Amino acid sequence: MPSDPFFHPVSGFDLPRFAGVPTFMRLPYLPPEHERLADVDIGLIGVPWDSATTNRPGPRHGPRQLRDASTMIRAQHGETGVRPFETVNCADLGDVGPNPADIQDSMRRITAFYDRLVSLDIRPLTAGGDHLTSLPVLRALAKDEPLGMIHFDSHTDLFHSYFGGTLYTHGTPFRRAVEEELLDPRRVIQIGIRGTMYDSEDRDFAESVGIRVVPIEEFFARGIADVMAEAREIVGDMPTYVSYDIDFVDPAFAPGTGTPEVGGPNSFQALQVCRELYGVNIVGADLVEVSPPFDASGGTAFLGVSILFELLCAMVAD
Ligand code: MN
Ligand code: MN
Repeated sequence: MPSDPFFHPVSGFDLPRFAGVPTFMRLPYLPPEHERLADVDIGLIGVPWDSATTNRPGPRHGPRQLRDASTMIRAQHGETGVRPFETVNCADLGDVGPNPADIQDSMRRITAFYDRLVSLDIRPLTAGGDHLTSLPVLRALAKDEPLGMIHFDSHTDLFHSYFGGTLYTHGTPFRRAVEEELLDPRRVIQIGIRGTMYDSEDRDFAESVGIRVVPIEEFFARGIADVMAEAREIVGDMPTYVSYDIDFVDPAFAPGTGTPEVGGPNSFQALQVCRELYGVNIVGADLVEVSPPFDASGGTAFLGVSILFELLCAMVAD
């Protein structure tokens, strides 16, 4: 069924892209009590939160910068021809207001916001925020059954704890998600892993529970199509979350992030992996760790919204 024109973005033919109040992809903004909220199929949400960052901060400024950069996004995918805004009803649902001084309270607020979206059958596409953002989102999405996950990152984010027992950081979200049975580890694949390591504790955990880790060396040796075919096979037809950390991309192309790792994919490869997600049963997705203070050119934010558009297309394509 074609989408309702109410939910179509403002075209650059009608209003120049530098004009107007920036919303995600120039979509209508629907506050939480808006009368059309129940008609939304996919909601774009900002989570301006980086209280769990262990290194350079800044993703709390991500959603605002990403909204601004997203005014460049047009209606049609350049390669696949997907026109997501005419296929389903998309809207900017605003930001979840975190409590920047309290991680647990922030997570409760985020989960409550997403609980409501789940009750309205709205699939979320989230702009973070640091990577702990994914955990409270998964708590809402995986209420009934553990999800599969395709995870792009240079880090596994599977550590047990930091600083002698701190369980909730942006390096631990998926360890907690497995412990809380939000993820089915046998249906999780992590792609692009690289960089110097503290030790092998995270990788050992992955192996012990059956998480598939694809290091960057294997990614480049096999190629995108082959690795992503394996990813689709691992998650199968069952509900799957897609989590995309911008530091998956080489810092030459995405310097605006807190924990960069060299030797990664370029910006084109960063988009290509998303085109291999078509057909996956995606119940939600996120793009995290864009840090505007380290993004002097704005190029990281533009790549970030380009990835968000790719993810959106993957969410609506068959
Ligand atoms: Mn991460
Ligand atoms: Mn990372």
